[in-house]
Amino acid sequence: MTQFTRRNFIKAAGGAAVAAGAAGFPMVSFGASKKVVVVGGGMGGAAAAKYIRMMDSSIEVTVIEANKHYYTCFMSNEVIHGRRSIDSIRFGYTGLAGHGVKVVHDIVTGIDANKQTVMTKGGHHFKYDRCIVAPGVDFKWEKIEGYDAKVAEDIPHAWKAGSQTVTLRKQIESMKDGGVVAICPPPNPFRCPPGPYERTSLIAAYLKKNKPKSKIVVLDPKPKFSKMGLFTAAWEKYYGYKSSDSMIDWQGTPKGSDDNVLKSVDAKTRTVTTGFNELKADVLNIIPAQKAGKIAFAAGLTKGDWCPVHHNTFESTIHKNIHVIGDAAIQSPLPKSGYAANSEAKVTAAAVVALLNGKDAPTPSWVNTCYSFVHPGDGISVAMVYNLVDGKVSKVKGSGGLTPGYAKSTMEMRAREEQYALSWFKNITHDTFG
Ligand SMILES: Cc1cc2nc3c(=O)[nH]c(=O)nc-3n(C[C@H](O)[C@H](O)[C@H](O)COP(=O)(O)OP(=O)(O)OC[C@H]3O[C@@H](n4cnc5c(N)ncnc54)[C@H](O)[C@@H]3O)c2cc1C
Repeated sequence: MTQFTRRNFIKAAGGAAVAAGAAGFPMVSFGASKKVVVVGGGMGGAAAAKYIRMMDSSIEVTVIEANKHYYTCFMSNEVIHGRRSIDSIRFGYTGLAGHGVKVVHDIVTGIDANKQTVMTKGGHHFKYDRCIVAPGVDFKWEKIEGYDAKVAEDIPHAWKAGSQTVTLRKQIESMKDGGVVAICPPPNPFRCPPGPYERTSLIAAYLKKNKPKSKIVVLDPKPKFSKMGLFTAAWEKYYGYKSSDSMIDWQGTPKGSDDNVLKSVDAKTRTVTTGFNELKADVLNIIPAQKAGKIAFAAGLTKGDWCPVHHNTFESTIHKNIHVIGDAAIQSPLPKSGYAANSEAKVTAAAVVALLNGKDAPTPSWVNTCYSFVHPGDGISVAMVYNLVDGKVSKVKGSGGLTPGYAKSTMEMRAREEQYALSWFKNITHDTFG
């Protein structure tokens, strides 16, 4: 991958912002009162709703969101580490209302694509001209015997931020020194590919300081993972990785084997069984395999586990006038990340506004950066700009890259990455909910 140079990235990303962001779209009103219904007010849905209103204030936009507050998954690993409070990652919907978005708290139970109507658990029906579906992910519970939504309250996945983030933090805090934390990451594809390894790093940082005799065992069903070289170099630097008393024991699974593929969980004894072994832990963090949010299946928007879309507009290839964005969509090579969901939201908002006004959708481009903390004061990132080639999202050659390894970077640069991450968090949450 190209070495990361921030100047090249910003140059390329600047192009993407003009194409996909609000900067390129003045507030306009075309007079017609069209209706857009957005299902899910998370990273993708909330941003799409706000940007449609900013681009064309004549469009009536309703967001239907299950919860009164949204907890960002990004920075939730910091809550688990203990240096951030759960309240600092909590956002409400008054900002969206300020942009004229109608926010309804209810659960969407169905979408009738023929009648262009969204139905809710509360018994309400919402007519739309265009619908944007952004429900995030659901879990494939059936893949792990003994693990389900109920068990997850005690043995948390914490892969949707909120109460389970707090539970995991408390369990690590109350674990004895010398205890074992077992983390079971999911198979690909899943939300936030570097997330389990950032979590491993930040739990290790907490344990190193507070319970140094403890261990973290990562039972990974994959042979490798995102930013692996950067993570393992940091684990060597801070946590003794590869030495005989390493705090982190990462066990991958070679292709074609099921060595560390999680088969079952015994919740009472906190024991996991994989294809190869059994492990009893003091704290268990199981992150199950993932698929599109439930409503995507109920609405017939899926093919396999995810929702196929036309990449120029993110309109479903199955149902007309319905767009699917964020983690639920098949958007590879864009990752399933909050930043990508935000970028997709802007592209889709621009497309929806154009199409509702009888115009062609503009040519899209997207941008993504995923930051991770490997230790307090030490951050890394992977970045990329994408454009449309032959109707598909494609990486723009030379536009992104990775943070250089320790040999080619200074600790000042790595500390700056941490600061960039914190500033990104402030900006993207304001961009989405402000
Ligand atoms: C630990 C962790 C760390 C992460 N770190 C980063 C990071 O550093 N950078 C980054 O870019 N991304 C990160 N991510 C990924 C990021 O959080 C997701 O990719 C992003 O939230 C996806 O946005 P979304 O809109 O698709 O889904 P979500 O943000 O999950 O939003 C979906 C919303 O839809 C609502 N909903 C679902 N179904 C219904 C229904 N039937 N009716 C009403 N409402 C419904 C939900 O309540 C939810 O609010 C991280 C994820 C995790 C787990």
